Amino acid sequence: MSLKDRFAEAAKGEPCPYQLMVNSLPVAEQEALAKAWEQGLSQRLILRALRAEGYKTSNEAIMAHRTGNCRCPK
Ligand SMILES: [Zn+2]
Repeated sequence: MSLKDRFAEAAKGEPCPYQLMVNSLPVAEQEALAKAWEQGLSQRLILRALRAEGYKTSNEAIMAHRTGNCRCPK
């Protein structure tokens, strides 16, 4: 991917990598994840569970999304 592609993608207002990963989850998994955040499970624990299930994300991506510091349409 080139810088041009990346800027074009950012301008489209697409969700951030974390949200894209969440969107790709089966609905039941999305619900389980949403519930985990609601229950206040730690980010570390949630990240570990996601990775154990083979979903690719990172502390940085989760943090950016949770603090509203990501490229998701606001
Ligand atoms: Zn986001």
